[in-house]
Amino acid sequence: MIIFPDLPHIEVEGVEVAEEITVTLRTLSPIASCPSCGRASSRIQSRYTRTLRDLPAVGHPIRLIMHVRRFFCTKSTCVQKIFVERLPELCHPHAQRTKRLQEALRRLGLSMGGQRGADVGNEHGINGSRDTILRLVHQSDLPAKSEPHVIGLDDWAWKRRMRYGTLICDLERGLPIDLLADRTVETVSAWLEKHPTIDTISRDGSSEYASAIKKGAPQAREVSDRWHLVKNLAGCVSVVLASCLTQLRRAEVVAAASVEQVEQSSGEPPSYQRTRAERRAQRARQAERQARYEQITALHNQGMKSAEIAAVVGMNERTVRHWLSRGDLPYAGPRKPRSSPLDPYKTYLLERWHQGCRSGAQLERELRAKGYKGSQKAIYRCLATLELFVSSPSRRSSAEARSETESQLHPLLALSAPQATWLFFRKEEDLKAEEQENLRQLRQASPDLETAYQLVKDFLHMVRELSGERLEEWLDKVEASHLQAFQSFVTGVQQDKDAVLAGLTLVWSNGPVEGQVNRLKLIKRSMYGQADLELLKRRVLHHDKKSLERKNKKKQAQQQDHLEISRGRKKNTNSKHTTPLISKVA
Ligand SMILES: [Zn+2]
Repeated sequence: MIIFPDLPHIEVEGVEVAEEITVTLRTLSPIASCPSCGRASSRIQSRYTRTLRDLPAVGHPIRLIMHVRRFFCTKSTCVQKIFVERLPELCHPHAQRTKRLQEALRRLGLSMGGQRGADVGNEHGINGSRDTILRLVHQSDLPAKSEPHVIGLDDWAWKRRMRYGTLICDLERGLPIDLLADRTVETVSAWLEKHPTIDTISRDGSSEYASAIKKGAPQAREVSDRWHLVKNLAGCVSVVLASCLTQLRRAEVVAAASVEQVEQSSGEPPSYQRTRAERRAQRARQAERQARYEQITALHNQGMKSAEIAAVVGMNERTVRHWLSRGDLPYAGPRKPRSSPLDPYKTYLLERWHQGCRSGAQLERELRAKGYKGSQKAIYRCLATLELFVSSPSRRSSAEARSETESQLHPLLALSAPQATWLFFRKEEDLKAEEQENLRQLRQASPDLETAYQLVKDFLHMVRELSGERLEEWLDKVEASHLQAFQSFVTGVQQDKDAVLAGLTLVWSNGPVEGQVNRLKLIKRSMYGQADLELLKRRVLHHDKKSLERKNKKKQAQQQDHLEISRGRKKNTNSKHTTPLISKVA
């Protein structure tokens, strides 16, 4: 009885090995118990054959042909007159698969989803269709309800910007414990009310979760998540950096445009190939638009309305809304040189210039006689550029050279606002030499940037060392700096101060929840948008023993680290915890 060690009352009658292994079995027990009343009976009514699929052996699927019996129930009052003998160790009543095969399929479904699980299973002789697997997953029990003490809340998107759910993690065990269909105050507070053992809740800065906690778990201490704090701070800083980079780029646009204008005004035959200056002006314009776009999205992510954003960045509100609704930057192709009433007369003007006529008034009279209807200003502007560049080739080339060295002098122009922000938020000793140079130049580019840098550094120090006692002092420094961009961050901190203080003091953070949200996203994506909440919940909450053991080992190591930090405030050990937090900033 090698393949059925736990079934002493079954005898193997025969084994047939082909593509599939067929094992014929017979039940031996002289009695069976009635499933309705429980009384044992030995009166056999009839026999029949039942076919079951089992786990494969040496790569071959196994089919069991079972000879089982029907019994009479001997209790006269029992509603069931005849019953079939059961094999509870082997299979469920009426099932077509053994329990262990069902379990294997269910596990495949939980870790891979229906279709993928079916495909992988079939390759290994564990046969079951997608629908069978999904049915087994739905029938499985959810992990036993726990009584958590420390939890983390975070939202996850059913559909980006449209519909959000809530993921709840037990932070002490580092495990997801529930998935809620939305993130409303009603749903979340109702869940919290059912879990009165909770005493600490880590959450992001959202006011909805804060209200839900006040309503559903007023006993709990709220912890504002450090990563979200750093992320919000990074949002503010990137606005400062974006506007600074925008100024630098605008200066570049002006410089490049003047060269472009001269090359057009100099009357050179129109060339279909764009000149270097045109290309550079185009690049500078595009970079400037990109910077503005980044600034707009950063402000939008901070919850600013289109009208406010438009006022801050100095753009039309409709354009702001258009850019935001597109979700990316509309590409502005090469700009056509603006046509001017002077255009048809430029060749004549240049000719007269080369003949030595420098008088604006004289040239205007000549042009008017030829039918020029434009402004006097346009003529003078054209003459000024000719004066500057055309008359003296040496001056022209030096002007060009100057603007080129300028763009070389500003490696900062190659930085995007998020890249620049990244420089501010990483540890200085982790930066490469080139990055350190960029950071140095950024800090020198304006006093505001230097102040912003120092404030960021102080804040990150609090985050890394969990020294929340210095928060008050930091807020005073921000106030003294008069930096507008930090105001929204400070307002947020003031409104949520107890939780922020807890976040900068306690070891709890939403890190594990974020990890689970990422896992959820992966699972959701693998289900090609066909996930319903129940299925998703079963898959997200499922953890097999091995991965749990691995996780626990890792957690113990981390706790050891935390102990070392809190004991000795060691300089190097804590970087491990904050680097992943901040790495998302970039
Ligand atoms: Zn009975």
